[in-house]
Amino acid sequence: MLEWIYRGLRKRRITTRYPRVPEPAPEGFHGRIDVASGEPVSLPVAGVCPTGAITVDGAGRVSLDRGRCILCGECVRALPSVFAFASVYETAARSQHALLAGPGADPASAEPGRGTLADQAGMLRRSVHVRHIDCGSDGAEEWEIIALWNPYYDIQRLGFFLTNSPRHADVLLVTGPITGPMRAPLERTWEVMPQPKALVAVGTDACGGGLHAWGGVDRILPVDVYVPGSPPAPIAIMHGLLLAAGILTAGQVSA
Ligand code: SF4
Repeated sequence: MLEWIYRGLRKRRITTRYPRVPEPAPEGFHGRIDVASGEPVSLPVAGVCPTGAITVDGAGRVSLDRGRCILCGECVRALPSVFAFASVYETAARSQHALLAGPGADPASAEPGRGTLADQAGMLRRSVHVRHIDCGSDGAEEWEIIALWNPYYDIQRLGFFLTNSPRHADVLLVTGPITGPMRAPLERTWEVMPQPKALVAVGTDACGGGLHAWGGVDRILPVDVYVPGSPPAPIAIMHGLLLAAGILTAGQVSA
């Protein structure tokens, strides 16, 4: 017992101060794929992507859909002059269009359809209840979500609490590619949540389907925030929750 007290005194505070203080990802961390806006691509690079996230138009301009990217690195290995891993955590976006990257994409044009929780409620107090539903995930996203409530991330300090009841939930976190048996429970959960409410798709499977060709959550329900990654890191999920609540805005990083 005394050992733990001394250890606490020695280490002092270990909890991250994010978002008040930026938390940069370590060098070499695979947060997302960036696309160089260089010469037109002539190689058949789209074929290297197992999820169909890469498209090349007639002029050789590359477009990459981060909502479908599982960060496997095949494109980086095939064409390192065009594709590169970026060491960033804050990858969440408020529209599917904003997940597009590369000279063949225009991510700036889309506006999210629904306002944040703060917009919908008029004001937002520090008490946002989160319901998580696993719709066929491989379990990777769940480890990262659970980590948000550990002493390092401690998302409760920002007013986010997990709830088992959808009737008490403000935010629905959805993971997985929505398997057939989970479709009805997902729809029912969303239906009984009170207004205002927000839906956050966590992980590439939920955002765009990943290796599952049928697409993500937004073919069934309206998504407010997409958090791509396979799996996304806890800070990335925290960033998505802060966007959904309206505590951070899309252009604002680590306020
Ligand atoms: S890293 Fe992403 S874009 Fe590149 S090949 Fe893999 S899934 Fe496709």
